[in-house]
Amino acid sequence: MPESTDVAVVGGGFCGLAAARALAKRGVKTVLLEAEKLGWGASCRNGGMVLTGLKLPVPTLISRYGRELVQKMYAASLDSIELVEQIVKEEGIDCSFSRCGHLEVACKQAHFDAYAESAARIKEEFGHELRIVPRGELRSEIGSEIYFGGMLDETSAGLNPARYVAGLAKAAARAGACLYDGTLVTSVKPERTNGSRKFRVETSRGTLTAREVLLASGAYTTSATPALRKKVIPIGSYIIATEVLPPDLARELSPRNRMIYDSKHFLYYYRLTPDDRMLFGGRAAFFPESENTVRESAELLRRGLVEVYPQLRETKVEFVWGGTLDFTFDVMPHSGKLEAMHFGLGFAGHGVAAATWMGTKLAGVICGDADDNPFSKIVFPGAPPGLRSGNTWALPLAGMYYRVLDWLT
Ligand SMILES: Cc1cc2nc3c(=O)[nH]c(=O)nc-3n(C[C@H](O)[C@H](O)[C@H](O)COP(=O)(O)OP(=O)(O)OC[C@H]3O[C@@H](n4cnc5c(N)ncnc54)[C@H](O)[C@@H]3O)c2cc1C
Repeated sequence: MPESTDVAVVGGGFCGLAAARALAKRGVKTVLLEAEKLGWGASCRNGGMVLTGLKLPVPTLISRYGRELVQKMYAASLDSIELVEQIVKEEGIDCSFSRCGHLEVACKQAHFDAYAESAARIKEEFGHELRIVPRGELRSEIGSEIYFGGMLDETSAGLNPARYVAGLAKAAARAGACLYDGTLVTSVKPERTNGSRKFRVETSRGTLTAREVLLASGAYTTSATPALRKKVIPIGSYIIATEVLPPDLARELSPRNRMIYDSKHFLYYYRLTPDDRMLFGGRAAFFPESENTVRESAELLRRGLVEVYPQLRETKVEFVWGGTLDFTFDVMPHSGKLEAMHFGLGFAGHGVAAATWMGTKLAGVICGDADDNPFSKIVFPGAPPGLRSGNTWALPLAGMYYRVLDWLT
């Protein structure tokens, strides 16, 4: 590892690798430090849904942040899909990227009734078209009888996340970034030498001095950067994947191969993989992953899978895994500077596209581009004690709250 660099990036997921790629392409000396293997965090374990939109409803966003800022946020979410597509093409990443669209399905009649208003508002505010799919037409989209209708966004895409993150790493290295896996950052401290500020980055491989530091450590942020860690709410999410399905059954379950999720807070998300397995995920346990939560989640998710698709009652589940999502208290992505370090965080279930976009954007800011990033203009609340990383005793209570909310609304 070199003794000094222009930029040290902490974390080798979508955010860190997209930033390292963009920085290196602009000739900035960049060192990326990843504690485990590149892509080891949420970035290689997710559902591969490349989604438009933000997690919160548009009226909530507008009342919180004002129309102008929210229009920029929504535009960023649409740009992020284009950006992933452009990177995949430009870097020749073989990750089964496909503009298959996403489908939200309504678990209650009231949820479906709200879709029309929601789609109209999105068209009016952002000029973006969504299509409502009434219950009677849902068969052309999904082979399940349990939903009350759907809302379709043709702009979203799907990919294989592990292949995408590996491709991003290769692209960053090709552009000249130095990537170090198996390198845990243990502390970052500012220091002044000859009147100029630098950072002293202590790692398990030695010490590095950097002009700028970018924290892209997501839900796995450690006590090496306590100010950021206090902001992260780490929420477990789990996935099962079935055996390879016969082609006719796969087409019956998902005739257009959409990225699908339902309308609950405690939602299920699912899709066919390119080799025709059904990949079915959810926040089955809420706690970050451990051997126990993965085992328990496999059973809960299997039950959910059969509720949605009784056709899969006899189908074998061949894989199960879990990962941790980077939530924030206001359920928004955030970026900016904390203790003079750049950071990007809070992508939750939208990180494939959003973290790629954020990493690229932050690289631009570090290079001196004007900061037009709407997510750096909003207040970043801390996570309450009991929900924050390293001290998550209250997470099951939050889980119960959302289960009750799903039951009531
Ligand atoms: C099961 C699951 C399903 C999901 N499904 C989807 C989906 O379908 N679509 C979607 O858009 N999003 C999805 N997400 C969310 C998405 O995966 C994340 O938002 C995204 O990967 C975050 O990327 P990141 O680069 O910010 O963080 P990560 O990919 O988590 O990377 C952070 C990295 O930082 C490293 N690190 C942390 N601290 C240090 C340190 N001190 N020193 C060195 N390295 C450090 C970690 O080891 C880790 O590898 C899902 C997430 C999970 C867990």
